[in-house]
Amino acid sequence: MWDLALPEGYEPREAIVKAYDSRTVDYPEGGCIFTSLPSRNYGDTLAEHPDNWTECLLWGGKQKRDILSTPGFPSPIPRPPQTRHRIGPSLFGIGMFATRDIKMGDLIMSERPLLASPIVIPPLIPNFPEGFELTLSQSLEAKMAEFEKCLENSLGRMLPENRAAFLALHNCHTEDGSGPIFGRIRTNGFGIIQKTEKSGLEAGDYGCVGVFNAISRVNHSCAPNAIYDFTVASFSCQLRAIRDIKTDEEIFISYCSTSEPTAARQAKLKPYGFECTCRVCSDPTSDALLAKIEASTSGPSLKRLSKSNEERLQYSKYWMATIEAAGRQDLKQYGIHIRMLMAATAGLERMNELGKYKEMSKAWYLGRYGQPIKFD
Ligand SMILES: [Zn+2]
Repeated sequence: MWDLALPEGYEPREAIVKAYDSRTVDYPEGGCIFTSLPSRNYGDTLAEHPDNWTECLLWGGKQKRDILSTPGFPSPIPRPPQTRHRIGPSLFGIGMFATRDIKMGDLIMSERPLLASPIVIPPLIPNFPEGFELTLSQSLEAKMAEFEKCLENSLGRMLPENRAAFLALHNCHTEDGSGPIFGRIRTNGFGIIQKTEKSGLEAGDYGCVGVFNAISRVNHSCAPNAIYDFTVASFSCQLRAIRDIKTDEEIFISYCSTSEPTAARQAKLKPYGFECTCRVCSDPTSDALLAKIEASTSGPSLKRLSKSNEERLQYSKYWMATIEAAGRQDLKQYGIHIRMLMAATAGLERMNELGKYKEMSKAWYLGRYGQPIKFD
């Protein structure tokens, strides 16, 4: 049982805030930095700057130095040629919908986070009166209370429109000691700067989660039709279609890895406060199908595969149709089969078909990884 009681007599501290120039990158290590990115001049309005700003709570100066030294930062956010989405009522509360037909790989929309904060609670040292003995849960509770105070400061710095948008987001963490701001981050936040090769983060560096006005409203499906990718240069998330989407279709992303079996996915989704009932989760044969899709491009399968280009063509066409019927084009095996079709059609010198699969591969890669593929 979670012990929510803070020690008697303990009050979370007000943050001690020092003001720096917005271009500062050299801060003493080991403190929270409150900064708007890209930097915002006094009096700047959203009407004049629709790309918006992200209110960032960063831990230590390195994170800000890394962001500011990213080539191209701050570049304008990429936009689709026309509006392709709307927010509206969905079976799941509120969701995002396509306002026109969208092709695989197309940009649905881009957005800067309203708020960016560390992925885990930074090592704030709670200011306990001397002699306090804390249980583990009290200690965590006190840390969350300290962190909430920092986040209050971030919220206070936001433009009123952004603050209102943030507070309008759902909070499913009302019973676990999370404050109203941290609860909304836990409910709506997506990892934006994580330890990947792309981000260049090193061991011990903190990643960031971002909370978005629109993208945070996109509901989850284990067979998503969209994928998001964060770009530090424009400090924005791009939402792209991973398969063709029809007008008025709801847009879904996956909050967890879709290449895991149902029970593992359900466990990962638990903190979001819902049980997934998507087409994959409600199909008792989906785990077996996933295993077969994965095996279809594995080494042993490919070794067994005939050398005949015609047979290879039929093999990958079959698997692509199977993946499409299950709505699981986000799986990397789909991209591998497109590449296999390119190789087979090239071998058969069917140049028209090769051209078609080349375009398809480009669109899929852009949707899946957020960047164009380079063919050798
Ligand atoms: Zn599901």
